[in-house]
Parts: sequence; C-alpha cells; structure tokens
Amino acid sequence: MSAVLTESSLENEISAEAVKALDAAHVMHTYARLPVVFTKGQGQWLWDTNGKRYLDFLGGIAVNAVGHCHPRVVAAIQHQAAELIHTSNIYYTAPQANLANNLCRISGLDRVFFCNSGAEANEAALKISRKHGRSISPNKTNFVTAHRSFHGRTMATVTATAQAKYQDPFRPLIPGFQYVNLNDADALRAVVDENTCAVLLEPLQGEAGVFAASSDYLKSAREICDEAGALLVFDEVQTGMGRTGDWWAHQNSGVTPDIMTSAKALGGGLPIGACMARGAAAEVFVPGDHGSTFAGNPLATTAALAVIETIETEGLLSNAAEVGDYFAHQIRTVLADDVLEVRGRGLIIGVQLRLPIAKKVLMESMDRGLIVNAVGDSILRFLPPLIITKGDVDQAISVLKEVTA
Ligand SMILES: *Cc1c(COP(=O)(O)O)cnc(C)c1O
Repeated sequence: MSAVLTESSLENEISAEAVKALDAAHVMHTYARLPVVFTKGQGQWLWDTNGKRYLDFLGGIAVNAVGHCHPRVVAAIQHQAAELIHTSNIYYTAPQANLANNLCRISGLDRVFFCNSGAEANEAALKISRKHGRSISPNKTNFVTAHRSFHGRTMATVTATAQAKYQDPFRPLIPGFQYVNLNDADALRAVVDENTCAVLLEPLQGEAGVFAASSDYLKSAREICDEAGALLVFDEVQTGMGRTGDWWAHQNSGVTPDIMTSAKALGGGLPIGACMARGAAAEVFVPGDHGSTFAGNPLATTAALAVIETIETEGLLSNAAEVGDYFAHQIRTVLADDVLEVRGRGLIIGVQLRLPIAKKVLMESMDRGLIVNAVGDSILRFLPPLIITKGDVDQAISVLKEVTA
C-alpha cells in the first residue's frame, strides 16, 4: 500500500487499523506484535486507541521502572529538550558527567562508558574484556557465557546469547565463545583457563523465564575468574535499577563484578545504556578504542538522572522488595492449582504454569485490561513498574485467577 503521511497521522489521530496496515506494509517483521495500539501511559496504566485502560505488569519489558510518563522524568526531559539535546562526545556536557558520578555511587564501580542500548553495553564489556585479556597474553581472548542467557542482538552479543533460535540464522558467529549451564560451578571451573578473558553472566536470567544464579555460584564464579585472571562481567540490563529490591541483583550475593552493564530502566524510556567497570577494567579503553555518536547525550542522561532521583525519593527499592514478595506470595497461594513454581526476586517474577496455557493467559488477561508476558508455552513473566501497590497486585491476581480457571 502507498502510505501518505497526512497531517492527522502526524498528530497521532490515525486509527488502530491504519496503524496496523502501515506497520504490516512497511516495518520489517522482527516482532510478533499483539493486536493493540497504545497511545497514552500514566504510572502503571496504559490506554489504547479505543480509550481502554490496561494495568501494565510488563512495563515495556522492565523499562518503565518509575511508571509511564513520571512527572519528574517528563519535566526533566522537557526542560533539557529546550536547553540542549545533543552535541557530541568530543565535548563535555554536565548531565553526562553527573550521571556517571551517580552510577558510580549506586554501583560502587569506578567508571562508565555510555551507549544507547543493552546490546551495546554488553558489546562494550566484551571489547574491554578482549583488550584487557590481550594485554596479558595474545591468546587470552575467550569468553564464557551461560546457556539460556540473553545479552542482545548484535553479532557479538548474539554469540554470547547461548540460545539456538537467536544464533542459528546468523552463523558463522564470532569466534571464542564457550557455554556452560548456569549454577554448575564445576562446569565453569572446567572451561575457564588462562585463555579466558571474561565470564559473562546474568545474576538472574530474565528473558529465558527468570532463572536465578545462586549466590554460591556467583561466589564460585568470582573465585574461578580471579584464579584464571579473567574478568567477571554481570549483565544487569534487565535486573538492575532497583528491580530486585536492590539497585543491582548481584548485591544480594555479596559478589562484586569487574564490569556490569545496564540499560532498559536506566533512561525511563529514553534509549541509553551503560557499561560500568572498576579497577584495571575501568582503565582499558583509551581515546579511539570505542565510542558512539548519540551515547550519553544530554537528553538521555538527564532522563536517567531523573529516574535515579525518583527511585531514591520515592523509596522504590523497598517498594519493589515488599510488593514483589506480596505478589509472589499471592501467586503461590491464590493460583496454587495452576502454578508449579514461582521464581525471581522483587518485581522480576517468572511463573512456571502446570499447563501450556501461557499464551491464552496473556491474551485473555489483555482482554480484561491486564498486560503480562509469556515466555514459551508455560512461563509467565512479570516486570511491572516498581511503583505498583498491593492493590494493583490484588487486581492482577483476580484477573489471573479468572483466566486460569
Ligand atoms: C534486553 C536485554 C539485553 C539487550 O538490550 P537491548 O537494549 O534490547 O539491546 C541484554 N541483556 C539482557 C539481560 C536483557 O534483558
């Protein structure tokens, strides 16, 4: 179809059917979209083109941690947009320096490389690790990652993502990656050697259906990396920024990584990623090694500063922990007949269903105004805004009870 960009389509008054038709004709088919067009968000709520309201228990896949269009984030973006949106990383800007300072404060790490997405943050972590390894020995270039992991869609991060469905269409992959099962310290010990430059792990695997690395396993990973002179890298793109009730999921284990990545919730919906490092790993990149045109621009970093301030002033870490515990408890009790296992911590929750009805639960929940996510046939995943209340949980539980009945 030929699309004419009319005045009304620019003003977002286009009908849902027209949006779907334009998308079908002109957007590459990388997403199996659900049949809804959202036009407005506020807090934990979304509205579609029909004015129907939804309780959002997916939060843009862990992005909308402070809720949709949080007034503090909106005001910060509006103000900054009128001041300065972008210059270039060949100049200094205050919001970027300020955000780096705040990220080091809440992570305990030393330096930040800014980028625009989770994949790019992991790409930076891989490049730092390779360069660090090569400075020790020319063969110290191998990575170890976990089966069922998810690290992004660039060629290197898809190689790090040990899932055939993401890798097979794009072979050959990047050389130098080995994969292990999560929580098997012996298997990790067996593959890590003097040629390993880094071990990359999610402290809690989100995309695969919420599978936690145990604290003992993360401690072993730390020891194994130290013995081999390899860097330990944690991908906290999904689990960070308060989601588990701590700023970062790994804090619960007491293990400190050399490098950690963040994105998703960091910018309150604006695209921004961060690769943070400490010690020697923080000093690896020198001018010319790496960079990004948009990275850390004043608009995105101002939004991220507002997100951090909101999480702190509204006590969202403790809210995530408390409401997350309540949600998990309600799933275990009210939905006991339909649920085999509830996994996760804080407000990243995976529910293993007894029957392969995850898609049906998702669609019927949406009909009833509740947004959830399905992983495969029998896992539900919840990543709601950290601002949700126990009342919101009660509402979600009553919908889930209906649709699993
Ligand atoms: C979403 C995600 C990524 C990729 O982030 P993008 O911004 O989509 O590139 C990487 N790692 C984890 C753990 C994620 O959840």
